[in-house]
Amino acid sequence: MQKHSTVEVLGCSGSIGIPGQGTTSFLLDQDILIDAGTGVCALPFERLEAIEHVFLTHSHLDHICSLPLLVDTVGVSRASALKVYGLEHTINALKSHIFNNCIWPDFTKIPNEKTPVLEYQVIKSGTICDLGKRRLQFVEVTHTVPALGVLLTTPTGTWAFSGDTHQTVNFYHHVNQLAKLDYFFIESAFPDKEKWLADLAKHLCPQLLFEELNKLQHPCQVWVSHLKPREYELIASELKGPNATHQLGILSAGQVFHI
Ligand SMILES: [Zn+2]
Ligand SMILES: [Zn+2]
Repeated sequence: MQKHSTVEVLGCSGSIGIPGQGTTSFLLDQDILIDAGTGVCALPFERLEAIEHVFLTHSHLDHICSLPLLVDTVGVSRASALKVYGLEHTINALKSHIFNNCIWPDFTKIPNEKTPVLEYQVIKSGTICDLGKRRLQFVEVTHTVPALGVLLTTPTGTWAFSGDTHQTVNFYHHVNQLAKLDYFFIESAFPDKEKWLADLAKHLCPQLLFEELNKLQHPCQVWVSHLKPREYELIASELKGPNATHQLGILSAGQVFHI
């Protein structure tokens, strides 16, 4: 069956340091960006120009750092404003710390306030956005700042992405309510020996990840993101090693999933 949509992995690394592997960013079809990490830098101008909506899971730099350059690159060449969606905390952080006329211009006033090149839209946990036949639902997860996971439903498939999270409950409640689930993307930033750091930074390590997967009621493909480059080999071996209770794949930039 012809699938309705694609999710392209632009970046899924926990940081920089592996050439070709940028930080978190997924492109849904040609027009929707989910997070704006350094992975966005892989796109040529024409594809940057086609982006209409940018959904940010949270305010951390590795998920927003390409946004200022994206707006600057395509802003005045687009017919309408680039729409940036996030929690109130995320939008306020962008206004205060990035688009503050010091680090970068306030593009909500460029070229003027009536027809700006950037627009903010506050979303909450529970918000549903229907963009064509693509339904995006946002659910809070557990991180050091307010953060969201994403559920995508198209006429032909479903995809869920945890964003950055520690152990969490509500997200799985919503994921399990989907009629089915094709792909589940979850993070594992640290190896098990750094569980203390995962607990502190509110990320997952393989041991915690496998506990989280026990909450998932759907049979589906599981893919892992956000491995820190300095411990990539160790985390990867733990995800695939003897303690692994689920089969999973490790995401890589350039992969395309048909949803
Ligand atoms: Zn984060
Ligand atoms: Zn992150």
